[in-house]
Amino acid sequence: MPSTNLRTLIRQRLADEVGRIPKQAPLRICLAYPSPYHVAMSSLGFQRVYRALMDHPDMACERAFLPDEGRPADEAPITYESLASLSDFPVVAISVAYELEIAGVIRLLQSSRIPPLRQDRDRRHPLILAGGPLTFSNPLPLAPFVDVLILGEAEALAPVVCEILATAPSRHDALASLARLDHVFIPELHGDQMPPVARVDDAMLPAYSAIRTPHTELSDMFLIETERGCSRGCSYCVMRRSTNGGMRIVPKDVILGHIPSDARRVGLVGAAVSDHPKIVEIVRELAEQGREVGLSSLRPDRLSDDFVAALKLAGYRTLTTAMDGPSERLRDMLERRARVKHLVAAAERARTHGMDRLKLYLMIGLPTETDDDIDECIRFTSELSKIIPVALGIAPFCAKRNTPLDGAPFAGISTVDQRLERLRKGLRGRVDVRSTSARWAWVEYVLAQGGIAEGRAVLDAVQAGGTFAAYRRAFEAIPSHAPRRKLAVVRETSSCSTHPPP
Ligand code: SF4
Repeated sequence: MPSTNLRTLIRQRLADEVGRIPKQAPLRICLAYPSPYHVAMSSLGFQRVYRALMDHPDMACERAFLPDEGRPADEAPITYESLASLSDFPVVAISVAYELEIAGVIRLLQSSRIPPLRQDRDRRHPLILAGGPLTFSNPLPLAPFVDVLILGEAEALAPVVCEILATAPSRHDALASLARLDHVFIPELHGDQMPPVARVDDAMLPAYSAIRTPHTELSDMFLIETERGCSRGCSYCVMRRSTNGGMRIVPKDVILGHIPSDARRVGLVGAAVSDHPKIVEIVRELAEQGREVGLSSLRPDRLSDDFVAALKLAGYRTLTTAMDGPSERLRDMLERRARVKHLVAAAERARTHGMDRLKLYLMIGLPTETDDDIDECIRFTSELSKIIPVALGIAPFCAKRNTPLDGAPFAGISTVDQRLERLRKGLRGRVDVRSTSARWAWVEYVLAQGGIAEGRAVLDAVQAGGTFAAYRRAFEAIPSHAPRRKLAVVRETSSCSTHPPP
């Protein structure tokens, strides 16, 4: 793949896409993603904004991505639709999922010869607009790099903001107009005072895929939203019920009515898909039509026998759900409804219905966690593995803004690594244990809790090679925040763990 010319690669991928919207229009907007194609095209939010921009009568949207792994990291991105550089557009809109993608934003701009810092750009450069899931928690570290941020649900605002940016007589006029819109943050004018997040009218739901492609992990899957938000109150989660009015349910008939007849694979997407009141009927009906179905989140207390049977019919071989905390005490602290009895029942039902294994996501490094909690996890998971083979997917805990656990310290890199090692040793030969990196979780934590200075430090880190050591040096060089970060480093050192860690 690295030896394939980028234009050839793009041609091949375009030939395999279904649903792309062919369009020429006077306002050309570049929609970029700060990760490679296969990640972007699995993002329902990215796909939704693509469709929203294409729905504008005078607008045509062109997509660009970071290079795939294995390709030169500084390869200049070009749009899939016209092979144009990002610097050829009046506006570049970027969707950012989480903190570690801020480096991707910088790389997208730098490799397109656009100065990453807003203050270094002028009228020769595109205006940079950003939005995406990161805006629900703490997008402030993005502020040095963008002209405009849309906070929260962006599908209604994105075309409006892009039109103003692309047609205003000057950058100054564009920003002055946008500053009057609710939910739009202009770092240059607003400093660090962010408005509340946007919530679209329920009539705009559900989001669904525009383009299907075999070149993603979700290969050719048609994605559709079954609900938005969540009615639960997990204390670490940005999407809890206090965000944007809780859970908004899409009626079953509306969901089924949007699914194209030729979509053999369907992904049901949302923060709490299994809480949809008709979820068992939806999965069963799709399975009986001969389709394979995947769900982005399964709560263990919702896994009734009927539900697990429907999932098996829909092609599930691994039942994936959330354990969240390593012990019952920590699950209480996280305000989880999931209990040991639900996890045991999930394991038994997965076995009864002939699935191959149970996969559980959990966080470690939680506030007040001790080795006793890890030992309880070892004992309990060992018992579960006697029912069905078990795999653990672990993410170190990072406190996020706009959650009750905001401000909780990072446990420390060495503490997280020691606990992971204790888990691995205790479960060796019985349970497959995989974890995301404690070091990068610390970087995510600093950015999740940080501000403009931490954002600028990402630029220093990227320019110094983007290694963990480069990030640590860059963060430690911020004078005003040194004591807090020092503490985290010396002690050494997401929202819904239902979803796979990045
Ligand atoms: S972790 Fe999942 S279930 Fe809990 S509030 Fe967040 S989205 Fe809802």
